Amino acid sequence: MKLYANIIIDISHEKLDKTFQYEVPEHLRDSLRIGMLVVVPFGNGGRRIKGYVIELTEEPEFDPARIKEIIKIDADGTRIESQLIVLAAWMRRTYGATMNQCLKTVIPIKHKTAVKERKILHLQLEESVAREQLLEYKRKRYTARERLLAALIENPALEYEVVTGKLNVSSSVIRTLEEQCVLTVERVRTYRNPVQGLTRKETKITLNPMQQQAVEAIRQNAKMPEPKTCLIHGVTGSGKTEVYMELIADAIREGKQSIVLIPEIALTYQTVMRFYHRFGERVSILNSKMSAGERYDQFERAKNGELDVMIGPRSALFTPFPRLGYIIIDEEHESSYKSETMPRYHARETAIERAKLSGGIVVLGSATPAVESYYRAESGEYLLVELSQRVREKLLPTCYIEDLRKELAAHNYSILSRRLQGLMEERLLRGEQTMLFLNRRGMSGFVSCRSCGYVVKCPHCDVSLSAHNNGMLKCHYCGYEQPMVKTCPSCGSPYIGGFKAGTQKIELMVQKRFPNARILRMDMDTTRNKEGYEKILSAFANQEADILIGTQMIVKGHDFPNVTLVGVLAADLSLYTGDYRAAERTFQLVTQAAGRAGRGEKPGEAVIQTYQPEHYSVVAAAAQDYIAFYEQEMMYRKMLRYPPVWNMMVALAASSSEECAKAAAEAIVGLTEKDADEKLLLIGPTEPAVAKVSDIYRQVVYFKYDGYEYLTELRSRIEAFMENSPVFRDVMIQFDFNPMNGF
Ligand code: ADP
Ligand code: ZN
Ligand code: ZN
Repeated sequence: MKLYANIIIDISHEKLDKTFQYEVPEHLRDSLRIGMLVVVPFGNGGRRIKGYVIELTEEPEFDPARIKEIIKIDADGTRIESQLIVLAAWMRRTYGATMNQCLKTVIPIKHKTAVKERKILHLQLEESVAREQLLEYKRKRYTARERLLAALIENPALEYEVVTGKLNVSSSVIRTLEEQCVLTVERVRTYRNPVQGLTRKETKITLNPMQQQAVEAIRQNAKMPEPKTCLIHGVTGSGKTEVYMELIADAIREGKQSIVLIPEIALTYQTVMRFYHRFGERVSILNSKMSAGERYDQFERAKNGELDVMIGPRSALFTPFPRLGYIIIDEEHESSYKSETMPRYHARETAIERAKLSGGIVVLGSATPAVESYYRAESGEYLLVELSQRVREKLLPTCYIEDLRKELAAHNYSILSRRLQGLMEERLLRGEQTMLFLNRRGMSGFVSCRSCGYVVKCPHCDVSLSAHNNGMLKCHYCGYEQPMVKTCPSCGSPYIGGFKAGTQKIELMVQKRFPNARILRMDMDTTRNKEGYEKILSAFANQEADILIGTQMIVKGHDFPNVTLVGVLAADLSLYTGDYRAAERTFQLVTQAAGRAGRGEKPGEAVIQTYQPEHYSVVAAAAQDYIAFYEQEMMYRKMLRYPPVWNMMVALAASSSEECAKAAAEAIVGLTEKDADEKLLLIGPTEPAVAKVSDIYRQVVYFKYDGYEYLTELRSRIEAFMENSPVFRDVMIQFDFNPMNGF
């Protein structure tokens, strides 16, 4: 069997899918690997050029007799591009996507507009010769040439843009004079620098003993032959960021570069400035507001050794640093670290793989670590580092859990409990600020009783049913359906229905209750653009309002020292998202929201309103007790065989024909029948939460298994099956492993 290699010639080109196939000669079979740089004959003349191997296959793409052989492996094959190609191949294997999708994710693509060049024209003639030439142009009425040359005699170096702009000389004229050796064009590459022009004041904080201990532990680990991923578990304000910076400084001393991942929403000016004050211009940032060209520039600067630190959201993980030191992932539990497009990779897992390939170390940090991370730390796979105290001895806020069922029983029909109203009143009198947090997760139409808190659930799946417009209640996991209920099945109360209250409605209600209060609202409507978001936050920070109402967005980023009260309006809403991470997400959100109260000198209070005051995620969040939450949650995950104890793969079949999508999903299920493996648990086929997108019908199948390998093997089998089934030609298959956001 012959072996063929698919090769990309121009790695940073927009058309990454342009591959060329070559035969792997016998003597290279054992040594050739994906990612290697090779020399191949190209074109009719057989010109020798270099290319990267991105795939190895036994299947020739065209007539094998016409496929040329690879000449040799290039010695210069340890470049960063090679590492990233190997990483892309790993992502392809692990998450199931095409190699092309994976390459596009990891390799920064050069766009035509990307390179910003400064071009400078230099006069090449001596002045006397130039003046003669000028007369010549005048005689021949070459007016444009005359203008240009006259200007160059005045000023022997001119910006290209000035010449084409102010002097109105065309580029073809410039080219002609260049060809005639009247002038030369110098090309200076410039890269945009996002932190240029900031004023830096160097600050050096001395770490406290606890931080010092954390740094030492991570340093010791770094000296081991196989360093572990580190997890720093520490409440907000415990000084994690200072620890990160100390580690980055270590890496810089060794000539290594580091990447800091921060959720985009928390990537504020304040955060960037802290790194800038410490590391100066050798820090750069990436964010989603940048153009492709700006992003490409930052990647080029990283590759050229101009930078030591790159800060950014998920995609900054692929910064092409030649010598990787640390990859730090702050707020590592955030769901934004999981990609929602193919390949559906998780930045944490991918960072660990990248570190393994390139010799770096991953450091995770969070006040509320993802259950899977803490599980790995507990089992010794990660190194656990605890920062258990805040740097400035500040008390945690006092938390009250308010039972919304009791409010209704006491004829309080407001969305604000009596306690919350009372505390808000106090704040208004004292000139302090309040934040009201609406948990928007799980607003997808679940039905609950306002008298007793009963939630209508699926009898088969233990997830809440969703109300549909056709008057039916439906389970998104198994497809079970029943008619909408009129009274509460548990207590008979007629106050049962979908819980829907947007931020706008809440603003009106709050305004009615507190007519003199100045209220700001932050949600998707008021923050269409980035400025909107910053404007609201700074207005609130400047105390231009008494109350800020908002969704998830307000629990991150800025510190507001004058906020002494936080109200979580319906803490348990996120419990009904219908997925196994619901309790975890609720715990994280409520902990974070409560933690916003009392950041300044004044002590804070938090009111957590809920229909499930006894739910462990709410109780543990109010007590700011991560371990208590974790232990309960792990019991549940073990019992129901969810990640991190087991692994889960979701296969999504999408087609413009509903029947085709269903048939494909059923065929996929059929593929596992002969496995007869009792360890395989299967749910579906069923509709995902969003069953139809732009007229494309979607069906999902969930597979649970204790190991990961079986699932990836199953995935390859499904892919091969789909490829070889002409009837499913129009069905697209996507996979998601250990999902975070669902399809
Ligand atoms: P985290 O990242 O865990 O939220 P930070 O590193 O942001 O914590 O620290 C919280 C605050 O305490 C910051 O204002 C930081 O400048 C300050 N801080 C951190 N460590 C020290 C220290 N050792 N001495 C003095 N101030 C510190
Ligand atoms: Zn009821
Ligand atoms: Zn169900």
